[in-house]
Amino acid sequence: MADYKAPLRDMRFVLNEVFEVAKLWAELPALAEVVDAETASAVLEEAGKIIGGTIAPLNRSGDEEGCTWSAEGVKTPAGFPEAYRAYAEGGWVGVGGDPNYGGMGMPKAISAQVEEMVNAANLSFGLYPMLTAGACLSLNAHASEELKQKYLPNMYAGVWTGSMCLTEPHAGTDLGIIRTKAEPQADGSFKITGTKIFITGGEHDLAENIIHLVLAKLPDAPAGSKGISLFLVPKVLVNEDGSLGERNAVSCGSIEHKMGIKASATCVMNFDGATGWIVDAPNKGLAAMFTMMNYERLGVGIQGLASGERSYQSAVEYARERIQSRAPTGPVAKDKAADPIIVHPDVRRMLLTMKALNEGGRAFSTYVAMQLDTAKFSEAPEVRKRAEELVALLTPVAKAFLTDLGLEATVHGQQVFGGHGFIREWGQEQLVRDVRITQIYEGTNGIQALDLAGRKIVGSGGAFYKHFSDEIKAFAGSASAELAEFVEPLKAAVANLDDLTAWLLDSAKSNPNEIGAASVEYLQVFGYTAYAYMWALMARAALGKEGEDDFYASKLGTARFYFARLLPRIHSLTASVKAGSESLYLLDAEQF
Ligand SMILES: Cc1cc2nc3c(=O)[nH]c(=O)nc-3n(C[C@H](O)[C@H](O)[C@H](O)COP(=O)(O)OP(=O)(O)OC[C@H]3O[C@@H](n4cnc5c(N)ncnc54)[C@H](O)[C@@H]3O)c2cc1C
Repeated sequence: MADYKAPLRDMRFVLNEVFEVAKLWAELPALAEVVDAETASAVLEEAGKIIGGTIAPLNRSGDEEGCTWSAEGVKTPAGFPEAYRAYAEGGWVGVGGDPNYGGMGMPKAISAQVEEMVNAANLSFGLYPMLTAGACLSLNAHASEELKQKYLPNMYAGVWTGSMCLTEPHAGTDLGIIRTKAEPQADGSFKITGTKIFITGGEHDLAENIIHLVLAKLPDAPAGSKGISLFLVPKVLVNEDGSLGERNAVSCGSIEHKMGIKASATCVMNFDGATGWIVDAPNKGLAAMFTMMNYERLGVGIQGLASGERSYQSAVEYARERIQSRAPTGPVAKDKAADPIIVHPDVRRMLLTMKALNEGGRAFSTYVAMQLDTAKFSEAPEVRKRAEELVALLTPVAKAFLTDLGLEATVHGQQVFGGHGFIREWGQEQLVRDVRITQIYEGTNGIQALDLAGRKIVGSGGAFYKHFSDEIKAFAGSASAELAEFVEPLKAAVANLDDLTAWLLDSAKSNPNEIGAASVEYLQVFGYTAYAYMWALMARAALGKEGEDDFYASKLGTARFYFARLLPRIHSLTASVKAGSESLYLLDAEQF
């Protein structure tokens, strides 16, 4: 597999030339103090060095060795503890963390690029800091000042890691039926009892303590999701002076044997009257988790993009070197026995599909990250509200669409290698295995689609959608004539999505099955339309600069490919949505 090279040029293009993100930072006082274009560039450069040099080389060995469980604990593969220490010491775990507790305070638009790099380098490794950053977000937003002072600095510093304990054997999507109990104690703490499964980083040897955030029910809690509370449960209890004390009653019973991300420990966690502290008010646990979820879900989407990028880098290198057959128009490498496979139309189709999806995904995830930054830091209530609604609308799209396309991209990358793509040593098969989980965890992609179509579109009566649609129309309306080749198909795609959204709002009134029947394909039409907006924005930033260097010419060529070959996918997807739910219910359960 080719060495991983962080796509810094494209990241800078997206941040500085497409979105001119420094203008947004200058408008948000909390960010203006910590970041400008120059700092951002230096941060990305440094991240690229440590990630490419230290973490990427452990990707294959981590996959082959995997994690091992014993009664003493879980061992991560060779090199992981040292690499984690180097990553933590560089401040990368707390890159987006609150500076009041030792975080670096970078905007999401920057930490999103770091997430892409670390996950492209090594998806299993990337999960450890990602879960920690997610736990920190929940604590920072909802925990008492005392808990924040006690736990956040060591978590941002990577000395301690975090885990999110939601899932139970009988409760995954439907967290309302969890059974883990929390009993109040006289000193204000709680005793937590129950079993959680599939807990990423629940136990490992990377850090001296693990801070679990656990969903549980109080004795008098209302039934369902309204009766869930959130608790902080450390693996090792922390003394008043901050030193580590006794081991808490929490243990890892076993780890899962999985299709991919083998170097990420996926743990069964037993809480046997473990001591914990409540985060936020009783029964507000799901709301506290949701703070973290918009960030985390974007992060999982970025894992899809990251996998596609890693696969693309290897596939391009291979396609330039592997020689098979002659080009249809006659020999290109006349001095060789055959031409490099990059001459063949189908190989170009695969590579360009990967490139267009990856670069579209990078722009889209950066756009969503900027909305997260605006929602968090803007001092104008109206601006904040619009950004919050856009985040709510676009987060399920980012999670599901980027991960669906991440799998598609890695499968293309594997296919470019022919039989060698199926063989371990080239690394492409690992990317396909690893990326598959991103469609499943953090809420399956089916559930993301239901969230988009049900809660965000129908639930807001189309109001959240209107922000996005109006923004695209305003852009298209003010675009110069030279952009017509991109803007005209974009306008048509938005008109199609407007019409489909109206159809969804209308059909949801007549039959409760329509939302769930439409949701997955609706999300995909939404995603391709959103990428068309991104590609039109990128074309605007590149147009006129083609002569300067290949980067811009390549960008424009890829934009043209996207509009010609990928955007038309919306037509068949739209037809599927409009076919409605009827054909899904023609069989009884026994007839399957
Ligand atoms: C490697 C790995 C790591 C994980 N890490 C964590 C972690 O760190 N912390 C944690 O708490 N959990 C974690 N999970 C759990 C993960 O989030 C769940 O597996 C996931 O949310 C799905 O839950 P489930 O497996 O119970 O599937 P189910 O909820 O049983 O779903 C089964 C199928 O039914 C569909 N379905 C369910 N309900 C509906 C509905 N209402 N409408 C339409 N379709 C529906 C689903 O989309 C899915 O296709 C992890 C899982 C894995 C495999």
